[in-house]
Amino acid sequence: MTAQKHEDSLEKIAGDVRGCPLCKLARTRKNAVPGEGQISAKIMFIGEAPGRSEDEKGKPFVGAAGRILDNVLKKAGIERSQVFITNIVKCRPPNNRVPEEDELIACRPYLDRQIALIKPKVICILGRTAYSSILGGSSITANRGKIVERSGQKYFSTFHPAAVIYNKNLRSRLEDDLKKLAEEINKEEESKESLEDYL
Ligand code: URA
Ligand code: SF4
Repeated sequence: MTAQKHEDSLEKIAGDVRGCPLCKLARTRKNAVPGEGQISAKIMFIGEAPGRSEDEKGKPFVGAAGRILDNVLKKAGIERSQVFITNIVKCRPPNNRVPEEDELIACRPYLDRQIALIKPKVICILGRTAYSSILGGSSITANRGKIVERSGQKYFSTFHPAAVIYNKNLRSRLEDDLKKLAEEINKEEESKESLEDYL
């Protein structure tokens, strides 16, 4: 057996997710939604769970919330090719209820494998459910719009796109947050480039 066989890949994770029987959401999903994007992504967006459209298509953020996300990404000058988009649970909870603790626990290894492969510069957490599952604690408010570092990984938290659908004020705050995130990423890129010039 070669070492190759033991190497993880985004495709392997996606295959495991699509056939996953590990929690009760497997019984009600149409399609599991592993996530989408390049292994070279600099930013990893993590939402709550697939909704109806995502469950139909097997892809993340393709419904109303997805249109908002696309729009704010564009306004912030962030290319889809720079990002990987996924959720803390990969299957749709019935009637879009909040994912339950046993589901979060069962699904977490897939997210951890994706993070280990992609090694994103920043993980962008979308909304309260993903925030408390990933960073713990209930209050996203204290850290929203800021980079926080835990165990060498940078995190940035902001509103869930679905939360801003009917609220213009929140939507412009989400836009401002993502512009700030884009600036942070560009700053890092520039300092890396100038360092490379120097060496
Ligand atoms: N909401 C989410 O949290 N994730 C999706 O993929 C779609 C809507
Ligand atoms: Fe498996 Fe996650 Fe889907 Fe549950 S939500 S069945 S753990 S892929």
